[in-house]
Amino acid sequence: MPSRAELLRELRLRVGDAAVLDAPPAELLTDQRGLYQGAVAAVVAPQSTAQVASLLAYCHEQRISVVPQGGNTGYCGGATPDASGSQLLLLLSGLKAIRAVDPDNYSLTAEAGCILATIKQAAAAAQRYFPLALGSEGSCQLGGNLSTNAGGLNVLRYGMTRDLVLGLEVVLADGRVLDTLRALRKDNTGYDIKSLFIGAEGTLGVITAATLKLLPQPLASATAFVAIPSPAQAVALLARLRAVSGERVASFELIPRIAIELTTRLIAGVADPLDDSSPWYLLVELTSSAADEQLNACLDQALEAAMNAGEISNASVAQNERQRSDFWRLRESIPAAQRRAGASLKHDVSLPITALPRFVAVASAWVAQHVPEGYLVAYGHVGDGNLHFNITASGAGEALLRRQAEIKRVIHDLVHEMHGSFSAEHGIGQLKLEELERYTDPVELELMRTLKQAFDPRGILNPGKVLRNAK
Ligand SMILES: Cc1cc2nc3c(=O)[nH]c(=O)nc-3n(C[C@H](O)[C@H](O)[C@H](O)COP(=O)(O)OP(=O)(O)OC[C@H]3O[C@@H](n4cnc5c(N)ncnc54)[C@H](O)[C@@H]3O)c2cc1C
Repeated sequence: MPSRAELLRELRLRVGDAAVLDAPPAELLTDQRGLYQGAVAAVVAPQSTAQVASLLAYCHEQRISVVPQGGNTGYCGGATPDASGSQLLLLLSGLKAIRAVDPDNYSLTAEAGCILATIKQAAAAAQRYFPLALGSEGSCQLGGNLSTNAGGLNVLRYGMTRDLVLGLEVVLADGRVLDTLRALRKDNTGYDIKSLFIGAEGTLGVITAATLKLLPQPLASATAFVAIPSPAQAVALLARLRAVSGERVASFELIPRIAIELTTRLIAGVADPLDDSSPWYLLVELTSSAADEQLNACLDQALEAAMNAGEISNASVAQNERQRSDFWRLRESIPAAQRRAGASLKHDVSLPITALPRFVAVASAWVAQHVPEGYLVAYGHVGDGNLHFNITASGAGEALLRRQAEIKRVIHDLVHEMHGSFSAEHGIGQLKLEELERYTDPVELELMRTLKQAFDPRGILNPGKVLRNAK
């Protein structure tokens, strides 16, 4: 390891003075949820793939660990350096060019530091649609979305980030550049190497650019806020809607009564969309790229049939854009309202959708009986089986947080028994190392370690994230 002065000199030579930050702002050294606090030897903000390659070649030679950071909105501490003060924090925000938009090929190539909202705007400017939709889209970056394989609000229809990728440009641990930026739908040429970097959280390479799939823009939509007695009716309604509207179901979000109470109380401008109270709700949206498609009629019909079958107790279909955005504002305010309400234990789980009602029933009963220190706020992208099964306490919640390990174990064991995942869309980072070891198939885990060793033999890429450091 070079001295700090030598390190800074070498970094400045490679990327220029302005790209090396002497005193990093504190917010770069802590994670979104404030769970981890790190320290660094230096922070660099390269402006090009060539600069990232030059930096990694040097770090590889000197065995300096590198932590890539995008928008720092990740929920698992993946972009936070450790406390040693020996790591290099690599900011990707300088790589922010949209390199190409090809509307006829329905593809777009962008650099890793592009903000997600900017990519969506660039696609829209070409009358195309990039469907990845997250509450953090104004600050998260493409490289972070790819590295966490982000999910979000549209997975039911369009898939996870992985499903939206055609090609990647990645700088490997030793500084070589892998270029698979091919805008092809069909490309069966051996192992799908690019796929390994998606969801790898910066542990196998640093993504510098990607070629993304674009889709036709949704031009018609129909949105409803629906009251249901229990999550079992969510499963029934989703099946019914898919039967009548096929792939037009774009979002299907489960919301508990408590989330309505928290958002209307703690977030300005949020109102309860229905006049009577119900234990559970759904926010349902159908979209179509055919402007003249009568989606409201289709949704009305399905809701009426569901009402007659006793599956839903009330519903409001948005009559204009204002009402639609009010529904979405409520949904998107849940994480902020929860933060304002107090400390939370978060469980980002997924299950086969048919197992969700039983999971919610069993896990909720366990929480009600065994966790008097908190109350349940379980909501999520239930159309794709994803539930944020969170337990919130009033205020700092010390008593609840003290029991974190024990509670997490019970909930994740139950998820595992029901063939679900303990990490649906937020990844592993440094938060879920233990769970990965406990629940992952041992052969799969062994293959992950083999891949890490093959891609990063000196262990310099985001060490201690996803996999524990080798002893
Ligand atoms: C309000 C809010 C709502 C959210 N909603 C959702 C949601 O609905 N669905 C969802 O999936 N997530 C959601 N998230 C979590 C978060 O926004 C996503 O995980 C996002 O993809 C992270 O992107 P980022 O640029 O902030 O990455 P960071 O947090 O900066 O990094 C995440 C990981 O990727 C690595 N990384 C970053 N850039 C690169 C790169 N170029 N090359 C290699 N590795 C890299 C980092 O080292 C780290 O391990 C939400 C977060 C917030 C705050």
